[in-house]
Amino acid sequence: MLTILYRGPWRPATTTARTARSPNAGTPRAAARRPGRAGTLLRVGGGSGSGAVDPVHAVGRRPGSILVPAGPGDAVSAPRVRRVAIQTNLSCRTGWLDDADRDAVALWCTYHPGQTPHDRFLTKTTELTALGVRFSVGVVGLPEHLEAARRLRAELPDSVYLWVNAAEGHEYTDADAAGWIGIDPLFEFSQRPHRTRGRGCRTGDSVVSVDGAGTVRRCHFVPEVLGNLYDDSFRDALRPRPCPLDVCDCHIGYVHAEQLPLYDVFAGGVLERIPAEPVWLPLPARR
Ligand code: SF4
Repeated sequence: MLTILYRGPWRPATTTARTARSPNAGTPRAAARRPGRAGTLLRVGGGSGSGAVDPVHAVGRRPGSILVPAGPGDAVSAPRVRRVAIQTNLSCRTGWLDDADRDAVALWCTYHPGQTPHDRFLTKTTELTALGVRFSVGVVGLPEHLEAARRLRAELPDSVYLWVNAAEGHEYTDADAAGWIGIDPLFEFSQRPHRTRGRGCRTGDSVVSVDGAGTVRRCHFVPEVLGNLYDDSFRDALRPRPCPLDVCDCHIGYVHAEQLPLYDVFAGGVLERIPAEPVWLPLPARR
């Protein structure tokens, strides 16, 4: 099983599977005529064309069938894809998910206080819950976001995990961190960069990062190219290898680090960042 982290261009829902363009395939239609090969890594659209969808995390038995949320009816129907997690700020409509395979699709929803109205974001999460779509919600842990995050936590149902990412370059005192841990008990994993040089990481072996041209790297942070997704040239480069960087400070990277227990913490929900146990609830409520 291979996890593919895709970060690249996307197009709105008017782009359909038939017009999705492969970087290696001459014309869009040429790409569409080669199902199961290059060209099935499609542009991602959330249904509104609003620019809401960012990276896609997909787990499949093999690449080349990555996913198809290009519009209603297309979402996550590729048979070789086991799970697709889409990062979004939920400015898109949610109705396109009605046709999605709920076992395969999941969302990672980031709330940006000050950019997105609280009520609108909360309404979208209510829609996702009604649709039966698995999702997590998250906030960047800036001091000015603390009250908004607390309010969101209080108004989300207990079934929804709200994660907090440490803000880049921000130092947290113990008192600062305690405030965020009160919202997300897993915040400590994000609070400080992890020293990873020379230590095991699943990226480059069972996890790869792909950009819009199909260029495969082990992760978003290590520039070395392993090959290309569309011609399978990356396959021979897949093997266990240590991290070459001093630190890893982004969840989408260190979640794959072998020194951390996060594959157990998020078992069954690594890509969409949903813990296996509702660690965000008080102990009595978990039983
Ligand atoms: S630990 Fe982080 S930076 Fe290092 S290889 Fe893994 S994902 Fe990349």
